[in-house]
Amino acid sequence: MSNKKISPATQCIHSGYEPQNGEPLALPIYQSTTYAYSSPTEIGKLFDLTADGHMYSRISNPTVALVEKKIAEMEGGVGALCTNSGQAASFLTVTNIASAGDHILVSAKIYGGTTNLFHVTLKRFGIDCTFFDQELPNEEIEKLIQPNTKLIFGETIANPALSVFDIERIAKVAHKAGIPLIIDNTFATAVLCKPIDFGADIVVYSTSKYMDGHAVQLGGCVVDSGNFDWTQNDKFPGLCTPDESYHGLVYTESFGKLSYLTKMRVQLVRDLGVYPTAQAAFLLDLGLQTLDVRLARHCNNALAVAQYLENSGYAEYVKYPALESDPNNHLAKKYLPKGSSGVVSFCIKGGREKAEKFMNSLSLFVNAVHVATVHSCVLHPASSTHRQLSDEMLVQAGIDAGLIRISVGIEDIEDILGDIKNAMEKTFG
Ligand SMILES: *Cc1c(COP(=O)(O)O)cnc(C)c1O
Repeated sequence: MSNKKISPATQCIHSGYEPQNGEPLALPIYQSTTYAYSSPTEIGKLFDLTADGHMYSRISNPTVALVEKKIAEMEGGVGALCTNSGQAASFLTVTNIASAGDHILVSAKIYGGTTNLFHVTLKRFGIDCTFFDQELPNEEIEKLIQPNTKLIFGETIANPALSVFDIERIAKVAHKAGIPLIIDNTFATAVLCKPIDFGADIVVYSTSKYMDGHAVQLGGCVVDSGNFDWTQNDKFPGLCTPDESYHGLVYTESFGKLSYLTKMRVQLVRDLGVYPTAQAAFLLDLGLQTLDVRLARHCNNALAVAQYLENSGYAEYVKYPALESDPNNHLAKKYLPKGSSGVVSFCIKGGREKAEKFMNSLSLFVNAVHVATVHSCVLHPASSTHRQLSDEMLVQAGIDAGLIRISVGIEDIEDILGDIKNAMEKTFG
């Protein structure tokens, strides 16, 4: 299934686990913490990283490995590593190449949880973070890159600002400075956008969103394009100089294109305990099998909702990249030709008060701190996900007090629109 001509719609069903004659059609759950070997010599090779094989399920597991293979193929990467949450995956992507004293450059328009992780927690670890406006011209972004800057980070479709990241343009800025571009592709997934095709080096996911799709299992994933040359400068000593915890092994020399992911697995995942269970990977795989059909419906339903809101007279503005009137529509056309996910934001007229009234008047929509599930959900970011941000940071992140985030599900569109119209009539009476 590694044939590049096969589309993600087919890969999400057939890649990864490929049953042979007489084997189960469904992905087997290898429910085991540990693995049996014939001799201490065999186990010794695993510890030296000179043989492939599973040692302990804190580091790898055969069920999870098959899902990693599927995601890597869908994404067009050389490999993938799953984690037990998106937050864990974001943490790993950065700390695999940045240490105390280093700096990272991050789009201001990202998920609130990631902002907190980078701005508060990584700061305590000595990693400094600058948030930048992703609309800035290249020269302005270049000025923010310091000698100790290790990466640029952005989201394909920002949650909840719904801005579209100009991956190709900013990948060039990063590469000119000799650093990788890391893209959080959670809202788009490989079905709507493949960031590696546009120059992204590392792709990171919360699989808890569309990939899972049914609100059943948290997870994350890191995919490596294998394209970034870590040896081109002296910025990445962790990959290019000996690791004492493996007898002086040098990752780039021993693992080539897989050096970034191997280091992440055998150092950070080994030490931190963030690997998913086989059961979790099985559920993720089940979600992935319908990813393409679900996203097509999410996108169609969301576009209809966005168009209704835009023409309703009740919204100050509507943010949905696939709308012709959206300021990022030109970027959506380039990066998201099949649609821009099921998430629509709008600022209701009358601010916070009307936002609350509207949300209380919905009946089909679920009030939930979640997006990207088959159910339609609604959330008020200023009083929930972005509550910890100062007013100044809220503005920088593009969050107004009346902003409502709707995650349009895959119910019948007439029922969805009916519920929204009814709630608007109750709110504005
Ligand atoms: C939800 C989310 C995360 C965090 O993922 P969890 O699985 O909740 O830990 C990271 N990035 C984006 C864009 C998200 O939407």
